[in-house]
Amino acid sequence: MPEHEIHIRFYEELNDFLPEEKRKKRFIHQFIDRTSIKDLVESLGVPHTEVDLILVNGKSVNFKYLIHEGDDISVYPVFESFDITEVQHLRPKPLRKPKFVADVHLGRLTRYLRMMGFDVLYKNNFDDDEIVRISLKEKRAILTKDRGILKRNKVTHGYWVRSTKVEEQVKEILDRFDLKKDIKEFSRCIECNDPLKSIKKETIIKQLPPKVAAMQNEFYKCPSCKKIYWKGSHYQRMLTFIQSTKDIDK
Ligand SMILES: [Zn+2]
Repeated sequence: MPEHEIHIRFYEELNDFLPEEKRKKRFIHQFIDRTSIKDLVESLGVPHTEVDLILVNGKSVNFKYLIHEGDDISVYPVFESFDITEVQHLRPKPLRKPKFVADVHLGRLTRYLRMMGFDVLYKNNFDDDEIVRISLKEKRAILTKDRGILKRNKVTHGYWVRSTKVEEQVKEILDRFDLKKDIKEFSRCIECNDPLKSIKKETIIKQLPPKVAAMQNEFYKCPSCKKIYWKGSHYQRMLTFIQSTKDIDK
């Protein structure tokens, strides 16, 4: 059977999904049966949730486009701040106030994001179906180490977390979802994701270690698990870390 050829190139961070020899260059892809551009892109390893714009022979197309012999294809990632008005973006509008649901591999990342005030649902026994269901029902972006889940047709918002180091993972999320200006420490419980409430020292002073009672005056309480938060030494470390994330790209 005759094989057909197209030329294709992936831009920017989409190259993270490709093998070395296909990165940052136009390469030839051969096919027998015509498929949709979505299936082609995903067969090469890139989840559709990562893609915002596809140009075929210089014109933007949607995911249903069927590839033709000789097509010249360029695939671009989500540009939160890239203004191209003449073309057809494939992503639904960014979620205004991003909320997340994280997969079972991202427990530490979840705690960091909550510490910075972001709404992240997480359970160490979430299965993929449950994550997708929550994402669609509550309009939450999926954070995952498993790109397979992002290839599901129903999924609209998601991000494949690249790094295995939690500090770098946090920076990836802040960049991708443009969240640096939205960091609000001491606003959310690290354990259960509920918003914290400010609480008067007198009402909890008996529960505090003497040193804390003597030195701290500002306290917050989780209405669900009743955990009490104050700005101790862990807080200073957190501030240093948050500051380091803000310093990037200045
Ligand atoms: Zn709590």
